[in-house]
Amino acid sequence: MNIDLKSQFPALNQEFEGYPLCYLDTAATSQKPQSVIDAMSNFYQHSNANVHRAAHRLSARATQAFEAVREKVAEFINAGQNAEVIFTSGTTHSINLLAWGLTPRLAADEVILIDSAAHHANIVPWQELARRSGATVIPIPLRQDLTLDEQAFLTLLQTHKVKIVALCHVSNVLGTINDIAALAEQAHRYGALVAVDGAQAVAHHKVDVQALGCDFYSFSGHKMYGPAGVGILWGRFIQLDRLTPLMTGGEMIDTVSFSGTTYGQLPNRLEAGTPAIADVIGLGAAIDFMRSLPAAAFAHEQQMLIQLRSRLEALPGILVYGNPHQQSGAVAFNLSGEHHQDIGILLDQQGVAVRCGHHCAQPLMQLMQISGCCRASVGIYTTQQDIDRFIHAMQDAIELLA
Ligand code: PLP
Repeated sequence: MNIDLKSQFPALNQEFEGYPLCYLDTAATSQKPQSVIDAMSNFYQHSNANVHRAAHRLSARATQAFEAVREKVAEFINAGQNAEVIFTSGTTHSINLLAWGLTPRLAADEVILIDSAAHHANIVPWQELARRSGATVIPIPLRQDLTLDEQAFLTLLQTHKVKIVALCHVSNVLGTINDIAALAEQAHRYGALVAVDGAQAVAHHKVDVQALGCDFYSFSGHKMYGPAGVGILWGRFIQLDRLTPLMTGGEMIDTVSFSGTTYGQLPNRLEAGTPAIADVIGLGAAIDFMRSLPAAAFAHEQQMLIQLRSRLEALPGILVYGNPHQQSGAVAFNLSGEHHQDIGILLDQQGVAVRCGHHCAQPLMQLMQISGCCRASVGIYTTQQDIDRFIHAMQDAIELLA
């Protein structure tokens, strides 16, 4: 790749005891380009005021910048209208907001289907919803290669009263990509609502919520080169409009009196309180950054992932998990007979940052019959040198532990 993207990310330009940082933990959080850092700093220096409230011009400027990001997000994911874009603090908040909001619509004899590869953020809020409503949670089985079993999914739809299907777009552990459009079409045939966790998809794929055909889509700013503290819940207007607000208070009301309160319109109805204004501005800058990238940057990233996986598979004693034909962003692996944490520590000694543990996906670990694994994940700034460094550090770890 000719364009030098890494130099735009100040945090990547540092060393740990003489080793340049080799950051392969983008799935946990991406690094931030200078343009995002500058946008947030500029906001605080020149435009900081609360939004939607005051008569003064500084507040009008802040509000305009804030609402411009809503419009930018709507364009970025091809939402039907700006009011379908709800600012949250991240994917976890988005899914909690959604699961709470659906409470009155779920009956005790109904079922919530959840992707077995889901992150805890896409499991626990649904379990809580089931507990509140008496509904049942059923995991959607995976095939041997750890991809979602579409036949089993269909059988579940045919044999149960499924109200909600909670899917991940891309698995945060395996990088497996689900065919959301096909799954959503099937779920809709049986009258179910489809909620998609897109936390691991937005940084790697063009997301078009209308083409995906789902009803709700959640993601986090910090995994797509933006700041932490901001995320999105997108939903079809007609569905969002029926959600019971999780949070109530300022900003979300129409009228308040001690004899009763009426709620305002979307999107404000689901955005009580002062939002993370500067983080929203940073998210807007992250979208600008992503849109400025040529297609070659994403092709390069995918190339780095494919190479990382194939070179890793060639190392002795390495177990790589998941289906290589449907992969994006991350590769999960273990070294036979060794604890994943030990690998992580040895890699870190050479400045190589990977994630080790259960990756907030304990049900998936239980299916895989492992206590945890390592995960190397890439971004558009990952270089050939990063992959070489990782493989070299892995070879050293294997030798040391032999
Ligand atoms: N869903 C997936 C697939 C994730 O990878 C993550 C974070 O790792 C989350 C949800 C939770 O995101 P956040 O912590 O930004 O709310």
